Amino acid sequence: MQESWFNRKLWIVLRGDVAVGFLIMTTNAILNLGSEMSMTSARENRWWDAVVARDTGHDGEFFFAVSSTGVYCRPSCPAKRPRRENVTFFRSPVEAEKAGFRACLRCRPRSADHNPQAGSVKRICRYIEQHLDEPVTLAKLGTVFGQSPFHLQRTFKNALGITPREYADSCRMNLLKRNLQAGQSVTHALYEAGYSSSSRLYERTASQLGMTPDKYRRGAIAAVIRYTCTDSPLGRMLVAATEKGICAIQFADTDDELTEGLKREFPFAQRKRDDDSMRSWTKTLLSRIAGHKLNRALPLDIQATAFQRRVWTHLQTLPFGSTESYGQVAKAIGQPGAARAVARACAANPVAVAIPCHRVVREDGEMGGYHWGVGRKQTLLRLEQQHAQAAAAER
Ligand SMILES: [Zn+2]
Repeated sequence: MQESWFNRKLWIVLRGDVAVGFLIMTTNAILNLGSEMSMTSARENRWWDAVVARDTGHDGEFFFAVSSTGVYCRPSCPAKRPRRENVTFFRSPVEAEKAGFRACLRCRPRSADHNPQAGSVKRICRYIEQHLDEPVTLAKLGTVFGQSPFHLQRTFKNALGITPREYADSCRMNLLKRNLQAGQSVTHALYEAGYSSSSRLYERTASQLGMTPDKYRRGAIAAVIRYTCTDSPLGRMLVAATEKGICAIQFADTDDELTEGLKREFPFAQRKRDDDSMRSWTKTLLSRIAGHKLNRALPLDIQATAFQRRVWTHLQTLPFGSTESYGQVAKAIGQPGAARAVARACAANPVAVAIPCHRVVREDGEMGGYHWGVGRKQTLLRLEQQHAQAAAAER
């Protein structure tokens, strides 16, 4: 049985959300009863609509608790909708917890996403993106956002897994790559991406790109990418490679979607369909998808930020058929608190299956998202787990 405080005069005792009794403090309250009840129910109806619609616009405004599970959520929670009669609404996580509910592990109603702190991290990101052409120091950010530089850095790193400076660097790098791939001159591309001000930055760029910007530009335009499309247990699969290794593994329902996807990713490369030369890699991948453990590593040719590289390298150590949560991966790479950044790095994995981002699931054991669709993730894990169990039974 839960109690909910409606005003100073009246307690309404609820079971689920059905009023089972009133504790009236003054006779006055009886007169107010009708209007209190209808106002409350109008608001709750609105809130319930928001829950049904998983409306992110109401996140932070209220929380809903589910009596059958003992869990409370934010309105946009992706979990299955509860029955209306099991739902109680609260204004804050604290109230929900006082009433005996636990925070949901999927939507993390207490997490940073919808509190003022996360808002401030987002604003800092936007600020950095708009000031790429000037050195953005912690002191400067502190002044602009009215926070101590130490506090600002810690909150930022907690939310994104990188420092504001690393964020600025990665924004510049992405912009530079895009400009170079679009065929801009090196000088212009560097200038546009905010690298104009110092030669030190230019040198750092070369080391981050792994080559000089000039060479990168020529490479991006002249690169030859061979690809093939084939059937797989996950639908049509595209495997594409440069001369150095596999650069894309994608899934879709049709070949048209696949070639469009490849074009979006490598707009200036020459893309050539070449089934023969891709055959042995495709075979290896297909048998991996079918659940066969293979020790043979596939050569990869992919770009990654430092953070993505850490996540992806860790994923490749996950045993066949096993899963880890986003939070566990974050901890394993020494950045607890960067679970969301881990999820983003998984979503950005350009080579599905080869880097097994499908082995990362939500904290509560639910699937979590997958760039190529949750159904494909489920199929992959099921095949792997079947084979892992069969192998264990043989031993
Ligand atoms: Zn939830």
